[in-house]
Amino acid sequence: MTQAANPNQNNGTNNGIRHDWRIAEIEDLLAKPFNDLLFEAHTLHRQYHPANEVQISTLLSIKTGACPEDCGYCSQSAKHATELERERLLPISEVIEKAKIARTNGSSRFCMGAAWRNPTDKNLDKVIEMITEVKALGMETCVTLGMLTEQQSQRLKDAGLDYYNHNLDTSPEFYGNVITTRTFQDRLDTLQHVRDQGINVCSGGILGMGENTTDRASMLQQLANMPQHPESVPINMLVQIEGTPLYGADGIDSIEFIRTIAAARILMPQSQVRLSAGRHEMTDEMQAMCFFAGANSIFYGDKLLTTENCETNDDLALFQRLGITPSQAEAHSSEPAADEDMFKAEACHH
Ligand code: SF4
Repeated sequence: MTQAANPNQNNGTNNGIRHDWRIAEIEDLLAKPFNDLLFEAHTLHRQYHPANEVQISTLLSIKTGACPEDCGYCSQSAKHATELERERLLPISEVIEKAKIARTNGSSRFCMGAAWRNPTDKNLDKVIEMITEVKALGMETCVTLGMLTEQQSQRLKDAGLDYYNHNLDTSPEFYGNVITTRTFQDRLDTLQHVRDQGINVCSGGILGMGENTTDRASMLQQLANMPQHPESVPINMLVQIEGTPLYGADGIDSIEFIRTIAAARILMPQSQVRLSAGRHEMTDEMQAMCFFAGANSIFYGDKLLTTENCETNDDLALFQRLGITPSQAEAHSSEPAADEDMFKAEACHH
């Protein structure tokens, strides 16, 4: 086993932050003694982020279900027989009302997700209106709409969009086991369009879909070797939904999950690592470990956007027990992406 590389060493890249990780090095990181790995990740975390702050985003599904893609984890695919109810694009007034509730509940960023393979230009007009109005509330905005052309990315930038979420989902090698209606390269292309426009990138993946440790290392390598790391890296834990092809997949052990969070922190020290889908299936202790390992962002789901805010209260109670405070929106800091409630059905990882 080779020695894991020092994340602070300067390889001629940005401020000593590396973009040239080898899969074997990442596998070695993941295999370190747990205490050593967490110590390294937490030490680095403190160099780049406030130690006791977690950023909160709220995600609203603005268009649910009937998606032509076949993502094996997603109940919104028209190809899977799930019980999800389809919804048309929400009216702007409803979106703004939800954004106001999210703001009251402490969210600094409002994320809007639509189950499209890609938006039509007409759909984009409506989303742009939503972005403008949510920004007028003083919140950061993020959208996840599927694949984008260069021109559509430019329109979103012109509208003042802060973040675009587009997850890699898994490793290039395992990708075909999860999705067949698009390629890994399609994902990279959209991310490039978004990056070219100077929009902050939110991109991560899902663990527990039957992938192995090398796949996890490979997915992290793809993210960490981008010329500019995603500002936000959501790490999701698959929530299995009956009727989807990945129902019954081998899940991920909680210690392995925490290890992956720690590795993401070490590989991408400046990024916000987001605890996303699957969080509500984790114990408080597991979430606490994830925060120690470097997770510093969470999603509130859209259940929180109803009058019952018990989940918000649970989250805030956990924050209080841990001495964590929600961080406020910064002038373009970092990230957004998925929670089980967030897309009413489970992580939409456009
Ligand atoms: S994850 Fe997104 S793109 Fe994939 S099926 Fe679900 S809604 Fe469609």
